[in-house]
Amino acid sequence: MMTGKKILINKNMRLSSNQIVKNMVSTKLFLRDQFIQPVFIKEGETSSSRISGLGKNKSLCKDDILKQFENDINKGCRNFILFIIPEKKSDEIFDKSFSNEILLLIKNEFKDEIQLWVDLCICSRTRSGHCCLYKDKKIDFELSLKVMSELALSYVESGADGIAPSSMLKGVVSKIRSTLDLNNFNQVPIMSYSTKFASNFYGPFREAADSTPQFGDRSDYQLDFKSRSEAIDSSIRYANEGADLLMVKPGLLSLDLIKPIIEKTKKQVGAYQVSGEYASLIQLAKDNLINYEKALLETWFTLKRAGAQFIITYAARNAKELGFDK
Ligand SMILES: [Zn+2]
Repeated sequence: MMTGKKILINKNMRLSSNQIVKNMVSTKLFLRDQFIQPVFIKEGETSSSRISGLGKNKSLCKDDILKQFENDINKGCRNFILFIIPEKKSDEIFDKSFSNEILLLIKNEFKDEIQLWVDLCICSRTRSGHCCLYKDKKIDFELSLKVMSELALSYVESGADGIAPSSMLKGVVSKIRSTLDLNNFNQVPIMSYSTKFASNFYGPFREAADSTPQFGDRSDYQLDFKSRSEAIDSSIRYANEGADLLMVKPGLLSLDLIKPIIEKTKKQVGAYQVSGEYASLIQLAKDNLINYEKALLETWFTLKRAGAQFIITYAARNAKELGFDK
């Protein structure tokens, strides 16, 4: 896919820990394991519910989790990112019992058949709906990082194969890395949401993750989409903090940034085809204005052409039936 001069990518042992991750970072072929399926799990629900705009994607109740994974694995999907949404909101107590229970349930059943990333943020947990904790209307960095690194450790102890910090707080990757290393989890990779814009395209996700900010917006810590250099610098910063994999979000709206980030960091960069981008395809198809499958494939090949190594997409579970049979 790459054109022009070849960039030598730095890979580490953490990215060759299993065959799924090896496929995910393989630069030779466009493989099925390069698609990551988001899965939403909500505490306290007795039935799973559709997520507005996201087609057949559901927010799962506990009882439906294993069935969904089994179906997905049977379809050939085995790379997942989990969004765990607790029932109670708090700015003081970050209860880990539900997330631990869910992770143990999934990993005890499917073990190494799947690569399980866990999204790490606190916006689904805080009463404010923000990705950090505030003290006197200012971000409390020390406390936010402490809370997030403790969550990361508990996820990994319960079976998470990789951590994906999405909060965009300075220092979050290095704090998680050092916490994991101190506890002998130095083989667990970190996939950073390293260039994440304060975008208008997150609507369906926010509904699913129940994480709409209750005051202000996320411009304190997410990036302004008008600025190119800040967006690239952000990925450089998280690469320097020790992220193994980087990401741009929203994917299609960040095509121009993928190659410069690879060149500057020598790391692999994925793209998150976000909920609003994906929902646009669903809506256009509903109105009979496009062919959903063809349009979806066009977006995936476009992301790949731009240099994306892997793609987080709400249709990852359909990659095999869409022609990615390896
Ligand atoms: Zn967040």
